[in-house]
Amino acid sequence: MVLKGSCLCGGVRYEVTAPAVWSHHCHCSRCRKISGGAFASNLFVPLEAIRFEAGEDQLRSFKPPAAERFTHVFCGTCGSTLPFRNEARDLAGIPMGSLDDDPRFAPKAHIFVDSKPPWSTICDALPQHPEALGSAVEPDDRARGSSDASLQAPDASGSAAGRMREMKLARTTPILRIFDESKAREFYVDFLGFSVDWEHRFSAEHPLYLQVSRGDCIVHLSEHHGDGSPGSAVLVETEGIDDYHAELERRNYKYFKPGIADTDWETRIMTVLDPFGNRITFSEPR
Ligand SMILES: [Zn+2]
Ligand SMILES: [Zn+2]
Repeated sequence: MVLKGSCLCGGVRYEVTAPAVWSHHCHCSRCRKISGGAFASNLFVPLEAIRFEAGEDQLRSFKPPAAERFTHVFCGTCGSTLPFRNEARDLAGIPMGSLDDDPRFAPKAHIFVDSKPPWSTICDALPQHPEALGSAVEPDDRARGSSDASLQAPDASGSAAGRMREMKLARTTPILRIFDESKAREFYVDFLGFSVDWEHRFSAEHPLYLQVSRGDCIVHLSEHHGDGSPGSAVLVETEGIDDYHAELERRNYKYFKPGIADTDWETRIMTVLDPFGNRITFSEPR
């Protein structure tokens, strides 16, 4: 897959030759300044995947004095924002508005939502992060919140009460270790009927990390050595467990035939074992 992109005057043209690893809408003040909009939508691809076909000598850049890495790259003729190379993270950040093709990879989250101006409203259901994602693909500077404090003033004064939110723990996402990508897809997608929400890999030589989900059940699957051992156990609260059991029986998965049973503690459960020894128990109150 090759994606094409260009600036407004057409003097700079580039292409992207590898799939994206991440995408988000960033509401930080720097992204607003360089885009001139309420937020910037950025797509991240491996650094080696980006190639300038024309006008690389027209590229100009500006790095704010307080920034560690953040750099605005733009066309010297028309001023359009263009891909930014983040050598430290081995990624290129592509302003999605500069793409001429559909990357078939929509933004997965909003970041720096605490910096959002009061006149801008988020109207979709994507996850919202107050600052950076804490993700390895986030190219912005962590120090931004303080360095741009003056630009956040309208937000801080306008919703001071909103900032004193009650402490709350939210959804928990288990990270299950996997060893074989195709076995993992066969089990979680083809058998359990989960969808792949996103996947991340720094390059072809790096381990895979992906999010799969079905309904409200979200699981992360990781090939990274540091991400736990096989043999984990996860309990999923389920509605309609008998229907799900019938669905799994119809799939006739070669390596596992799940049973279903009533427990002594007033639940009905179905346990499945993934190819890596992780155990997922679906449970419904009786
Ligand atoms: Zn241009
Ligand atoms: Zn930003």
